[in-house]
Amino acid sequence: MPRKKQTGKKSGRKSGSRKKPGSFFSNLIFFSSLAGLLVFAGWITLLYLPLEKFLAKNQQPSPGKPISQTGSRPDPEAVLAQKGQKLLLKTQMELTRSPSIFQRQPVFSDCPVDEHYLNCLEMTFFSDTDFILAEKSIRGLWESEAVTVNSRPAAAPKSGLILAAMNGSHRLAEIVLSASAPPGPAKPGPARPAIKPRSKSARVAIVIDDLGDDYQAALELARIPGPIAMSILPFESKSQEVLELAKNYHKPALLHMPMEPLESTGKNPGPEALLILMSPEQVTLTLGKALDSLPGIAGVNNHMGSAFTAMSEMMDPVLKEINRRGLFFLDSRTSGRSVGYQLGQELGMKICERKIFLDNLQDPEMIAQKLAELCRIAKEEGFAIGIGHPYPETIRVLGERIDLLKSSGCELTPIQELCR
Ligand SMILES: [Zn+2]
Repeated sequence: MPRKKQTGKKSGRKSGSRKKPGSFFSNLIFFSSLAGLLVFAGWITLLYLPLEKFLAKNQQPSPGKPISQTGSRPDPEAVLAQKGQKLLLKTQMELTRSPSIFQRQPVFSDCPVDEHYLNCLEMTFFSDTDFILAEKSIRGLWESEAVTVNSRPAAAPKSGLILAAMNGSHRLAEIVLSASAPPGPAKPGPARPAIKPRSKSARVAIVIDDLGDDYQAALELARIPGPIAMSILPFESKSQEVLELAKNYHKPALLHMPMEPLESTGKNPGPEALLILMSPEQVTLTLGKALDSLPGIAGVNNHMGSAFTAMSEMMDPVLKEINRRGLFFLDSRTSGRSVGYQLGQELGMKICERKIFLDNLQDPEMIAQKLAELCRIAKEEGFAIGIGHPYPETIRVLGERIDLLKSSGCELTPIQELCR
């Protein structure tokens, strides 16, 4: 029987506290069972092929294409796992809801991960067929998500096979299968990944705005694992309770400072907002009261403000007061004309800006796409900040699919680490 069903080595998550998986995982069991069945059927033929022959085919993949099933000479060098041998499976995917093939392996244990892979699973194969089943199962899982699965041998001889899930030319995730060193003479440790580890990972921060009047929504948000920042409007009915929640759940907390929008937006920033008719002293005083009302926050971002943030003379006292208190300013960029980010840089203060709004459309699929887009930008630029709102759809998508960031190679990061 399996000693462990999942690695969870770095994640530390408890699957029992998770909500239902999102679309990527929701059909997981189904697809892996299906894959298992299909493979079983394919067995009738495969059973008569030696493992070497099957794997030898994988040694000459055509780049950019799935493995060809058509002939090539058996290559004994390509044998990865033999009966009784351990096989390491390193993956960038979360394996807490792994295909059943992994769960039915007789022996599981954790093994060391490196910076490129999130999980490492050690399996002992008691039959030659298990390896092929494992590979098939991974393929079935990914291909059900309409991605291409490429495979190629790992760089070091006999060190394994890398399976990469590709969306066009974009690598979504990869798994490396490699055999452990055979018993006997000393051998190097676990096979190293063929792909060079990134010097630093793509970092993503998520901020949820407009909190302060709905305790329940804030609680659901706070319960989502990871450093999702909570940006709180001052002087709302539940502002203090939400701040407490953020502290208790170790979420970064921000002041979501109301600022005057353009009239054309027809939006009311609410009481205690910063208005363009205020004097610099009034601005500093109004902002100061809001800052004082939420002690312990890490930074500030603007609520609305398409008029206010476009005016340097108005933003100047705002940024100076934030800087004086050692906080950062996150420019929400509610207007393309906002001067917040540029002015903050000129002042030499902690400054950052929003790249993506996650939920302009409150559709779960669109929100998930925005998450993916956020990760893509982070990979290009090193990091990226996304802002969302406490809509039920946003909270649900974050709750169910936040792991997509990790499996796509992005690291959810506390906002204060990116705003400095
Ligand atoms: Zn807002």
